[in-house]
Amino acid sequence: MHLVHTGANWRNYWLESLKNGKSIGLVPTMGALHEGHLDLVRKAKQEVDIVVVSIFVNPTQFNNQEDFNNYPSTIDEDLDKLRNEQVDFVFLPDLDTVYPEKPQLSINFGELEAVLEGAFRPGHFNGVGIVVSKLFNIIKPEKAFFGQKDLQQTGIIKRLVKDLSMDVALIIVPTRREEDGLAMSSRNLRLSPDERAQALILIHSLTKAKQELLAGKPWFEVQNQITRDFEDVPLADLEYFELIHPDSFIGYVDFDPNQKSSLCVAAYLGKIRLIDNLPIIP
Ligand code: AMP
Repeated sequence: MHLVHTGANWRNYWLESLKNGKSIGLVPTMGALHEGHLDLVRKAKQEVDIVVVSIFVNPTQFNNQEDFNNYPSTIDEDLDKLRNEQVDFVFLPDLDTVYPEKPQLSINFGELEAVLEGAFRPGHFNGVGIVVSKLFNIIKPEKAFFGQKDLQQTGIIKRLVKDLSMDVALIIVPTRREEDGLAMSSRNLRLSPDERAQALILIHSLTKAKQELLAGKPWFEVQNQITRDFEDVPLADLEYFELIHPDSFIGYVDFDPNQKSSLCVAAYLGKIRLIDNLPIIP
């Protein structure tokens, strides 16, 4: 496994791969790797000849400085895990490589970011759009792999690729969960034991709401009940719980079994903000 720190360094490997007719796949991450990330890596191993995993904690996508400062870092363990998966390259750029200067470009995803994460994390998707564009331009992958866990992010990146005619195929990998249902997340490392236990409210509320909607309960009643359920969990603070179309992210006023739909939730457990989602009609 090769560690690569700059675009110039990668370029030599890229030229050689091109000459040998090898396909390249990119798995962008911010490190503190868990089995969810490794599912993306395993999918990439099946799909392409050469797998590049990037690890870069991107400051421009954090709208909260404390969240950025405390973002977990487990680089030695990460590299061991990637070696185990027989990853070919790890791209580990430093801040100056990715941001030699503060970008003047900003990306506005319009209606796609007017709701959910976009509404609650101003500037977040601009940062995601910029860093993903940079990574695509530096690594030049044929395929790139993203997790369903960050549903709105997948929509944003699909749109980025379409609107800028980028020549990269996106592959979305299902959410990996702990045995008790909590979606794996690097931020779970920062939960206290009590917060970890109470974090199950996210998946429990999603599965309960899904069952009730499929049983015919009106959406506004479901949403009100879930809001009350969160009030009963002392360490949890609900930010949003929405029923949306999984491509446009526009919220529904009621559930329609003939339309694609997903439930999305964001909540704080203490100071840690977690998100999750569940498709109802995929
Ligand atoms: P992050 O390091 O959190 O930026 O995540 C890097 C990639 O891994 C993103 O495409 C995420 O959507 C994906 N990912 C994070 N958690 C999970 C999970 N539990 N299951 C599947 N993919 C995930």
